[in-house]
Amino acid sequence: MTGAGSGGDRPARLRLFVAVTVPEGIRATVDEAVAPLRAEAPELRWTAAEGWHLTVWFLGGVEPDRVQDVEAGVARVAATGHPFTLRLSGTAGTFSSVLWAGIEPAPMLEELARGLATWFGDEMERPFHAHLTLARTDGARRPLKELAERYEGPTAPWTVRHLALMRSRLAVGGSRYEVCNEWPLGLPSSMPG
Ligand code: ATP
Ligand code: MG
Repeated sequence: MTGAGSGGDRPARLRLFVAVTVPEGIRATVDEAVAPLRAEAPELRWTAAEGWHLTVWFLGGVEPDRVQDVEAGVARVAATGHPFTLRLSGTAGTFSSVLWAGIEPAPMLEELARGLATWFGDEMERPFHAHLTLARTDGARRPLKELAERYEGPTAPWTVRHLALMRSRLAVGGSRYEVCNEWPLGLPSSMPG
């Protein structure tokens, strides 16, 4: 008899995804812009600012003994890229149950997503649409679109220098995320001399 929800004797899989993290200063200004909406719709599941990220590729459950291979793949794809400027669009949008902050078009981010899709041998299920998840709803109690229209967020740019492998863990009050490892974008420049 196995414990409920456990995989029996098998080691637990890790829920992994590849992402770009959002610097603290940007998170703080987005947090300010989101505060009034949060106050107005406390019934939504609002994400915590400290965990904000942009998912580039979602891996799902990974066996512990496969993590090294995954890391090697992410490192390889990161090396094919280069540092780039990212900026939020200052506007929000919605998927069916998600309220998100948008970003300005970022070809490098799309290239990294395609690289990861190729490396991990999957088709991209749908066109890549980078977004910062602000809130989720379990039902259609409140039209998210109305909140999205009122969001006026920051558009300050930042430089993305790393691709991160992140892990999520289910927790009361929302998933918790941690950076397992990260790799610089681009090959290290050769030392002079
Ligand atoms: P929860 O599932 O508890 O509501 P979450 O969706 O943030 O929280 P995960 O499901 O572990 O936590 O997802 C981790 C990250 O990967 C999130 O940014 C999420 O939006 C993204 N993600 C999850 N599933 C997919 C998927 N099938 N395709 C693309 N991105 C995904
Ligand atoms: Mg999820």
